[in-house]
Amino acid sequence: MKYITLGKTGITTPQNAFGALPVQRVGMDEAVRILRRAYEGGMTFFDTARAYTDSEEKLGAAFGDSGIREKIFIATKTTAKTPEDFWKDLETSLGNLKTSYVDLYQLHCVPVCYRPGDGSGMYEALTEAKKQGKVRHIGITAHKIGVAEDIVASGLYETLQFPFSYISSDRDTALVESCKKAGMGFIAMKGLSGGLLNNAEACMAFMSEYEVLPIWGVQRMEELEQWLSFFEKPAVMTNEIRDMIERDRQELSGAFCRGCGYCMPCPMGITINQCARMSQMIRRSPSESWLTDHWQNEMAKIENCIGCGNCMKHCPYELNTPELLRKNLADYREILKNRNLV
Ligand code: SF4
Ligand code: SF4
Repeated sequence: MKYITLGKTGITTPQNAFGALPVQRVGMDEAVRILRRAYEGGMTFFDTARAYTDSEEKLGAAFGDSGIREKIFIATKTTAKTPEDFWKDLETSLGNLKTSYVDLYQLHCVPVCYRPGDGSGMYEALTEAKKQGKVRHIGITAHKIGVAEDIVASGLYETLQFPFSYISSDRDTALVESCKKAGMGFIAMKGLSGGLLNNAEACMAFMSEYEVLPIWGVQRMEELEQWLSFFEKPAVMTNEIRDMIERDRQELSGAFCRGCGYCMPCPMGITINQCARMSQMIRRSPSESWLTDHWQNEMAKIENCIGCGNCMKHCPYELNTPELLRKNLADYREILKNRNLV
């Protein structure tokens, strides 16, 4: 297994890290079992966030009092927009994680690159937390490429977390290179592009060609075992995998929904993060599970869209979401019609 050093932080970890967003969806006991197994299986970097409901508490329960804490790296994040909320979040995170320090503290999904003296006080709060030893390193996460490029150019942060997978654009790949040149660690989120990519070996082989740390979102033990298996048998890029990636790139290029859910909630109750990518999901996973009464009802809600534009305002990929939803609905109805004819 290749190791990655996150820029100038000196944090060095196997290129196979744990994304703790999905453990918020499982019970406490199961989450602890999964997290400890991840550690025993070789993972040493765990990424969570104040915004992932009880994910931090689950990390605290798994590692806090177990003697494991000092052997791993814990990264968490705050969506605070004021220093007051920043300190509140940091103290809550430390309490939840049952630790006196966070290895990497990140400003979460920022709309702009916070700078010293910009009036927000956010950068000052971050550096003060580092000075106090509550935070060992400072990072930032973004979803918009322009904001991410600005962050790298600023040279103010030690790490950047950004979506990166084998269907990322050339501009995203250039961002990875600029991070490397700037001595900044790159943490790759959404390595499966929100569930659209389903070949773990190809995703891992792709990552191994870059200086990035993928954090794989894990909800089930079977998923974890798949990622852990790469410690025994590292994924290697082959011509066959390269061809498969190329086919996927062609199929998934252009404006498509990554399922991140930043556009939600919708006032009309539309499950945008699934319905706006139904055309892809239905073709890339067993289609029957998307044709149930439940999903037919969810898709039908698209007709209730009032065009308020709220979703578009929040989409980091600047998608025309209402239009995308309508296209997905038309395609879905076509699939249903043909299915009923069989
Ligand atoms: S434009 Fe439509 S889909 Fe988007 S938030 Fe408004 S009602 Fe929901
Ligand atoms: S429409 Fe945009 S914000 Fe909403 S889930 Fe899809 S990619 Fe994310």
